[in-house]
Amino acid sequence: MNIPPLPESLLDEIAQVVGPRGHTRKGDEIAPYCRSWRDNWRGSVPMVVSPKSTDEVAQVVTLCARHQIPIVPQGGNTGLTGGSQPHDDDSEIILSTSRLNRIRSVDPTNNTMTVEAGCILQSIQLAAKEHDRLFPLSLAAEGSCQIGGNIATNAGGTQVLRYGSLRNLVLGLEVVLADGSLWEGLRGLRKDNTGYDMKQLFIGSEGTLGVITAAVIKLSPLPKERQTALIAVTEPLMAVTLLSNFQQRTGEQVTSFELIKRELFDFVFSHIPGSRDPFSQSHPWYVLVELDGQGDQGSLRPIMEELLTDGVECGLVADGVIAESADQADRLWHLRESIAEAQNHEGGSIKHDIALPLSSIADFIAEGTRELEVSFPGVRVAPFGHLGDGNLHFNVAQPVGADRETFEQQRGLINRIVHDLVATYSGSISAEHGIGRLRREENRRYKSVVEMALMRKIKEALDPNNIMNPGKVL
Ligand SMILES: Cc1cc2nc3c(=O)[nH]c(=O)nc-3n(C[C@H](O)[C@H](O)[C@H](O)COP(=O)(O)OP(=O)(O)OC[C@H]3O[C@@H](n4cnc5c(N)ncnc54)[C@H](O)[C@@H]3O)c2cc1C
Repeated sequence: MNIPPLPESLLDEIAQVVGPRGHTRKGDEIAPYCRSWRDNWRGSVPMVVSPKSTDEVAQVVTLCARHQIPIVPQGGNTGLTGGSQPHDDDSEIILSTSRLNRIRSVDPTNNTMTVEAGCILQSIQLAAKEHDRLFPLSLAAEGSCQIGGNIATNAGGTQVLRYGSLRNLVLGLEVVLADGSLWEGLRGLRKDNTGYDMKQLFIGSEGTLGVITAAVIKLSPLPKERQTALIAVTEPLMAVTLLSNFQQRTGEQVTSFELIKRELFDFVFSHIPGSRDPFSQSHPWYVLVELDGQGDQGSLRPIMEELLTDGVECGLVADGVIAESADQADRLWHLRESIAEAQNHEGGSIKHDIALPLSSIADFIAEGTRELEVSFPGVRVAPFGHLGDGNLHFNVAQPVGADRETFEQQRGLINRIVHDLVATYSGSISAEHGIGRLRREENRRYKSVVEMALMRKIKEALDPNNIMNPGKVL
């Protein structure tokens, strides 16, 4: 289809609203906004707009609504499902929140912080720390992703087990709606039963319902002590049992519980300079576990040791190392966080971000691995992820020496095997990365007709002209 160019007069009007520093029309400046983090989605727009205030966002959206021009909201552009990429036809504009980057206020008594959408996640963590508080969202992209993008994707990360995902960490939102009007919902309340919970509609909506401009986020006490251990186990079921033992013994103190298959560490040791195996021998699976506490320094250490010793005695634990310092803990985390980069060096990797009931995870891994290995001999099924949340990145690496392109042509078939099995186990095909464009068609296959119809009704009610990130999610 031949799409007419966006009207120059409109682009000029938008430029006037945001001023010369608030927009670009230069191809080389626009290009990075149009490429995804993994460079697997590319698009094109005639303009990137970066308003510096909520009022400017509202004015831009009002203009776009009047001319029915689609808007792609963009934060740090680290999303993994193509949600922040425009289509490849110059029919949309990108609205970047990067200049909406003020921390408006911190209320240590209420344990809340009011932040603008473009604040980088890491800067929020640091600001919370300055007030002796913790903002617990933590993920490998935290140096680039923005809180607006985190909220729009209901981001998860490594501490969901204890603190919940973004849905649990947001108390209020400010949102520019698709007609340009402003919903001022910046409440710092933990209880509010005055009708539908509107903020939850926008959390996880991936830019399809409005532009989030600010949020009130929940803070927690800064942990006084942290213990980190890497534990070797022989199979996933042992990791699941171990998690239960940790939780029975320490309750809420288990902050992270990450499962890693050996092959992934082999990738890391081969490709990430400076990384080395903390164990003297190889084991089939590992768990990276972290305990946080408010007690005196050193009080968690005996508990971690006791849990490891008990685990060895009852045959759950093959070996374990406890970090002796924050620096050693960082090094253990670095191994975990280098997996994505290391995988890139091993050729094609077909990725899945799935959620399952914890009680089914071990069976799922066994059955999924078997099915894939039978159907695609030589593939390397390499799951890892947030086991404590029932969330696996069930990744399938190409056979050694295979042609990448030929392997990636099997993507549809591999996805079908994995996701059909996820459905059999009553799981989800997107635990934390969202739907974007990547999982849009598949979502239709696995969600019920009634649920899809409800989602469409909400979209039609809030964005009747379909200008907010069209073609994503729905
Ligand atoms: C190395 C790496 C590790 C990662 N680890 C994790 C992880 O552990 N857990 C996890 O959940 N994710 C993870 N991600 C994915 C990604 O970081 C998250 O989805 C993150 O929340 C996206 O934030 P962003 O600011 O980059 O959003 P973007 O990529 O810019 O946008 C993501 C989506 O949100 C929409 N959006 C952005 N800002 C707004 C706004 N202000 N209003 C409305 N809509 C908006 C966009 O249109 C798009 O649909 C990882 C990514 C990378 C690259």
